[in-house]
Amino acid sequence: MDINETVAAISTPHGTGGISVIRVSGEDAVNIASRVFVPASGKPLLASEHARAGYGKIYSRGKVIDDGIAVVFYAPRSYTGENVVEISCHGGILVTNRVLEALFSAGAAPAPAGEFTRRAFLSGKLTLSEAEAVGDRLYARTDAQLSLASPEAAGRVSRAVSGIAERIMSLISSLSAVIDYPDEELTETGREDVSAECEKIGAALTSLLATYDTGRAVTLGIDAAIVGRPNAGKSTLFNLFAGCERAIVTNIAGTTRDVITEDVSVDGVMLHISDTAGVRGTDDEIEALGVRRARAAAAGAELVIIVIDATDTNTSADVSADVSTDISVLLDELDVAGGDRTALAVINKTDEAEPYRVEKIKKALDLRGISSVEASLLRGEGFDEIKRFIKERFTDGELSLSEDAIISNARISAEISAAADGVISAGRASSAGMPADIVITELEGAYGALMRADGREVTTAVVDEIFGKFCVGK
Ligand code: GDP
Repeated sequence: MDINETVAAISTPHGTGGISVIRVSGEDAVNIASRVFVPASGKPLLASEHARAGYGKIYSRGKVIDDGIAVVFYAPRSYTGENVVEISCHGGILVTNRVLEALFSAGAAPAPAGEFTRRAFLSGKLTLSEAEAVGDRLYARTDAQLSLASPEAAGRVSRAVSGIAERIMSLISSLSAVIDYPDEELTETGREDVSAECEKIGAALTSLLATYDTGRAVTLGIDAAIVGRPNAGKSTLFNLFAGCERAIVTNIAGTTRDVITEDVSVDGVMLHISDTAGVRGTDDEIEALGVRRARAAAAGAELVIIVIDATDTNTSADVSADVSTDISVLLDELDVAGGDRTALAVINKTDEAEPYRVEKIKKALDLRGISSVEASLLRGEGFDEIKRFIKERFTDGELSLSEDAIISNARISAEISAAADGVISAGRASSAGMPADIVITELEGAYGALMRADGREVTTAVVDEIFGKFCVGK
């Protein structure tokens, strides 16, 4: 998209509503809008004061099609940093489209997805992380996501990144001084100082990077699967998560045959949680398919919650098996230990179960290194402990979403990780007595990664990809 072109798009959702807003941005914005919007005051739009709303009539092909409000923002005091006119008209789909078409006829080009925010970034109104935060804010579904997508949160990440980048730059400058004066070899102490500073910067980057676990759990979320034998209480647990009657709960084994998924927020952690069919040997073709899907859901999940019925005395195919063997067989069938999965077992129906059975199940799980929670899901007992486990496992309790610099974006996390590697290599090169220019090259690589993290040195392809994910009109 040519930045010199003046663009227009509908900035409100496409549907019937009270008001629609059409935004025009570019050097010619006021001129173009003045051909469509005529203020009732008699003063032409071109003579409008900055940020002052004015009522008027909206024209298309010489005819009045609507009345509304126009606000003119002059460059650089606008969202995009360019001249901007925002026209609010009545919120009908047809009338809004007609206003947009009138602006196109008057000389505006259609704005591609994210174009207004892209322009705000290109004109230096927003850093790339702030612009990305704008996108995250549009798609935020939980309060925790909204906290991480606030302008303040993006600013905190930007400041943390630039603070570290400055330290790297000052290290590069002092090393460059050594190269500029060849007589001044890097002394033993000099090398030690460089390594020590690299170590400190590396530690700062590593701890910033560690915040991504929390940021990711809040924004992208965790894939979780509830698995177990039929009738263990899986759907009861799923419904507790969903906070409503989402899945069918019955005492007929094999009711949940397909995988049902809900997005729920557990104290800020976004869980994409699936209820699955009970795992057992079956001749029923449909149920067998459900069992295969349950296994696949467990294999693809980061968190597997195994619900175990502590009153059930015969859950495995082997009727003679004791409860420990039984648990072992189930865990193997589900392959819960595989991959990087976190497993949590819920020993359910403690209201009816014999305490010694609960103990035996717990021991069998301990032997396999699986954490467990005792529960009576029917009464909601144990659910708080399950939620606490999830929060503690996937977020850092020391971090405050509203006060700390928390990375919530994969692109930034990858750049910071590259910067940490560069700084660590620079430190090693320095301790190994390598020439200063090698240490500098590593540090420059790290500095470049931080500049990209903050969007100050980033390719057009990356910029286009980021803004392409936005909606049209933003
Ligand atoms: P699923 O097949 O694993 O999804 O199990 P459901 O959630 O459908 O529950 C199976 C049966 O166990 C239902 O009749 C539930 O009411 C019952 N149930 C679930 N949790 C408990 C519990 O904590 N105690 C008791 N006594 N029954 C429960």
